[in-house]
Amino acid sequence: MNARNYQRELEALIAENEASGTVPRLLLHVCCAPCSSWCLEYLAPHFEVTVYYYNPNIDSAEEYRRRAEEEERLLREMKLPRPVGFLRGPYEPERFAEMARGHEKDAEGGARCSLCYEQRLRKTAEVAKKGNYDCFTTTLTISPMKRADVLNRIGEQVAKEYQIPFLPSDFKKKDGYRRSTELSKQYSLYRQDYCGCRYSKAETMRKRAEKRELEQKKPEQRKTEQREPGERESGQREPGQREPGKREPGQRESGQRKQARCPVPN
Ligand code: SF4
Repeated sequence: MNARNYQRELEALIAENEASGTVPRLLLHVCCAPCSSWCLEYLAPHFEVTVYYYNPNIDSAEEYRRRAEEEERLLREMKLPRPVGFLRGPYEPERFAEMARGHEKDAEGGARCSLCYEQRLRKTAEVAKKGNYDCFTTTLTISPMKRADVLNRIGEQVAKEYQIPFLPSDFKKKDGYRRSTELSKQYSLYRQDYCGCRYSKAETMRKRAEKRELEQKKPEQRKTEQREPGERESGQREPGQREPGKREPGQRESGQRKQARCPVPN
């Protein structure tokens, strides 16, 4: 079976809308400002976009606030062809904790992540339905760590339940991810180094510690590898070899002359 190209499907939908002169109202679920930057640049010319920031997975209220405020700043500063709305969802970490129970040890990209996508997409569909939007989607497909097929399948399931169209996407395609890093630099966006939940944060910290340990080991390993078998570490003396700068008993320091005696006055 041929894999679907979600980005091409989105392009075809946009082309249809352009041909009919339609500008649909889109509720765009956003995880953070860096990920949304390219998605907004790409979507805003074709949709009336409202950003929906809803991420109960985020590990602390402080981080939730920080990412939300950075999104709002991006919307104020970014030059887009039409105004983009902003809706800040409630911070509900207890809902994420309940959902993640039993999945604490799952690897990133596994079952816990699928449930986490579903939780966020379900809420987005609910808000989109209540708000009479024409469709909804998410910025999550821009991440190279997230599979577009999984996200689109969940989006389509939720769309059926709520009876509201889901916009297919794979925003990492067409250099989308690279462009998002450029825009992040351009707007000096805060780029967190973990996905969001406490498990992804612990994983990032573990990898960072491993990297540090490896880097500390490297010079030592190199020195050991460069030495011939039996060759001593630089600075390590042969048995009986004099310590540099240390004189044999009775030996004078190099350059030290025999002490001149003052002529004894007669
Ligand atoms: S790693 Fe990211 S996607 Fe997966 S559960 Fe944590 S926050 Fe959600």
